[in-house]
Amino acid sequence: MTTATPEQPADVVARLRATFRTGRTKPADWRTGQLRRLREMLTERGDDLAAALHADLGKSAREAYRTEIDFTVREIDHTLDHLDDWLRPEPAPVPAHLGADARAWSQYDPLGVVLVIAPWNYPAQLLLAPLVGALAAGNAVLVKPSELAPATSAALARLLPAYLDTDAVAVVEGGIPQTTALLAERFDHIFYTGNGAVGRIVMRAAAEHLTPVTLELGGKSPAFVDRGTDLAVVADRLARGKFLNAGQTCVAPDYVLTDPETAAALEPLLAEAVEKVHGADPQTSGEYGRIINERHFDRLTGLLDSGRVVVGGRSDRQDKYIAPTVLADVDPASPVMREEIFGPILPIVTADGLDGAIAFINDRDKPLALYVFSESEETRARIAAETSSGGLGYGLPLAHLTVSDLPFGGVGESGMGNYHGRYSMETFSHRKAVLEKPLS
Ligand code: NAD
Repeated sequence: MTTATPEQPADVVARLRATFRTGRTKPADWRTGQLRRLREMLTERGDDLAAALHADLGKSAREAYRTEIDFTVREIDHTLDHLDDWLRPEPAPVPAHLGADARAWSQYDPLGVVLVIAPWNYPAQLLLAPLVGALAAGNAVLVKPSELAPATSAALARLLPAYLDTDAVAVVEGGIPQTTALLAERFDHIFYTGNGAVGRIVMRAAAEHLTPVTLELGGKSPAFVDRGTDLAVVADRLARGKFLNAGQTCVAPDYVLTDPETAAALEPLLAEAVEKVHGADPQTSGEYGRIINERHFDRLTGLLDSGRVVVGGRSDRQDKYIAPTVLADVDPASPVMREEIFGPILPIVTADGLDGAIAFINDRDKPLALYVFSESEETRARIAAETSSGGLGYGLPLAHLTVSDLPFGGVGESGMGNYHGRYSMETFSHRKAVLEKPLS
């Protein structure tokens, strides 16, 4: 009896490259066919993925469908609706010196074999949404799920090969050793979502092969609350956006930035909103998620004494549960303000007026998202003009990333490049310049 040895990363990449070279992934029919199969996987086996997401993160089925499964289905539908348009060559005016019979255009070519490395917090969506773009662009794709969400990783490794063309799409599971081995290979693009420290490792490895990268990173996304805003509405929207997935969302509002009087008025309203949205006991509500692992649980509970607890504060290590928590009187130099929180803790920090708030934001790394709650058009315009962030949300956290026609990505420490909708197709394509001059 012979035992099959698992395929080595180099062999997987070689196999995908051989497929790409045959030209099989390039026709529009192959691309749309794969996207339809992926859609079938999500509709037929969505419950398998939802169960895995529950095992990894305590995600309720409702949240799993809303934020991961249906989200990806929408991304597929949007791509199927528009792909023909996006791929149409774009004519360019030709300068007179080339003659009236010359033509010029640009067209999108697939890149080849691309690598997608996903994180654990939305372990299905953040692997599958880039995959949609990579397939739409006609590439062979290697996807690497996060080992920190092992049930979802195993479900994806089982389901994707059952639905997709296995010569062109491969799943490699594993942690640092497997990812390190993969990064030694030559890819035509690497799409990484995760933290900036690993982002640097990815970019260094990519540099060896001159491989372009997209880095979808994180950071502290502020929520600025202006004086004179309807604070009940603000509190309700913050309570929903911040504590989704127990705060483990890259674009979650990391902290509230406001003036001292508004902070005082907001505190009781946030406490009320948390209870209204997540129930008196979120631990037993069946809708509220859990922290991914003990390491993050310990890190997060270590941040709880960075301020006065307005609501929440309770935790249960056995259950990896941390209550939705709001902290007031937080010193900007305290531990909770020195790192991306990435958990269900919302500190309120105060700044002196709009100038102080803008300076506070600009003194720190460029955030992945910036949220502004203000009735003043002038304030909104000033913040847009005087700060830099991956995305900007007026009045509603998180929602910008659900607009398929908007590019989603960071700037500076929060990342480089972007995706979603046509931007995904562009990310995984080369825009080739073509000039044609008749020979006679
Ligand atoms: P993670 O620990 O799951 O790591 C992400 C990937 O990197 C995994 O596939 C992992 O195997 C790989 N990896 C880890 N260490 C490595 C190493 N030393 N060498 C090579 N590969 C390695 O996820 P994470 O980084 O903890 O994710 C959380 C971070 O991701 C947060 O900062 C969050 O803001 C950010 N994030 C960003 C987005 C976005 O879209 N911009 C989305 C989600 C999360």
